[in-house]
Amino acid sequence: MRIVKLPKERFSELFEALKSWGEVHAPVKVGRFYSFKRVESLGEFTLSYTRTMIPPKKYFVKPFEDILKVHVEKGYEPIVEESKRIVLLGVHACDINALRILDGVYMDEIPDHYYASRRSNSMIVGVSCEPDEYCFCKSVGADYAWTGFDLFLHDIGDSYLIRVGGSKGESIVAELTGVVEEPTSIDYVKLRDYELKRSRMFRRSLNASYLPEVVDSLYGSELWAKYSDKCLGCGSCNLVCPTCRCYDVTESLDLNMVEGVRSRRWDSCFLRSHALVAGGLNFRPTRLDRFKHRYNCKSSIDQRTGMLFCVGCGRCTVFCPAGIDHLEVLNSIWGLR
Ligand code: SF4
Ligand code: SF4
Repeated sequence: MRIVKLPKERFSELFEALKSWGEVHAPVKVGRFYSFKRVESLGEFTLSYTRTMIPPKKYFVKPFEDILKVHVEKGYEPIVEESKRIVLLGVHACDINALRILDGVYMDEIPDHYYASRRSNSMIVGVSCEPDEYCFCKSVGADYAWTGFDLFLHDIGDSYLIRVGGSKGESIVAELTGVVEEPTSIDYVKLRDYELKRSRMFRRSLNASYLPEVVDSLYGSELWAKYSDKCLGCGSCNLVCPTCRCYDVTESLDLNMVEGVRSRRWDSCFLRSHALVAGGLNFRPTRLDRFKHRYNCKSSIDQRTGMLFCVGCGRCTVFCPAGIDHLEVLNSIWGLR
């Protein structure tokens, strides 16, 4: 993989090159938290942040959108949105790995047109980060992105070492001829030292070995209820999770009873309605059932990437109004064995 060096004082030239490729969206502080938003100038965003509340998946699967026009006589017609190029600048490795998981869900076999076209019109620019007290990406192997980005910026002090991940990234680097440099051996020593320091900063870890088997075999454990009794069933943990991908599809007709739309919106397996099927049967009728289901899902393996369906971003713990700690739940269950 090609690696180039960008002195930080020339970062504005990278930013301008990205802007010439598409709309740049980057982490912006909103109140106490961060959110990916469109930015026009360097002062509007930061690359030194913990996590956004809503992960980058919001750009590829919208929280709510109309996908088909419905006409009772003419049938269905896709709603085709105007395609625009978006650069996501400052994506952490865990979120890049989560997008790799979503790519498999939405683009393998029959591709989801909406997701696929937004993905092909996007550029992902990753940035190295430092863990806080909620991150456990290292223990699930999501603290480093091997693929899934166009450029990845590693902070080595006065410069960035940039890994170039594909043709879109190459096109940006080509625009920066005379701005980027060949890294020296001293730059690689700085990178190694930074990564060693970062690796030692992780304070939390998940017992991930055999986790799918452990969680599955202890499905009947009474320990689950200790946590599910506190759960409010609000679904916030699903909304903030970068790998949660369930959606609901509904149709509604206008008052003329002739035209309408088919829409989809993010869904949550914590909501009672999620497992409600025709005839009124609910195959996860209790909060305990729903709680165990989510932890089973997050503890299973994505066959395509070989990763857990949890990238250790810590969002579900940070934003749970009941104070339920995802890591504590799974490590408790693991400890039962
Ligand atoms: S965010 Fe917390 S309280 Fe809400 S559904 Fe998830 S675990 Fe339950
Ligand atoms: S389950 Fe929690 S820690 Fe894991 S990826 Fe989802 S939000 Fe992040």
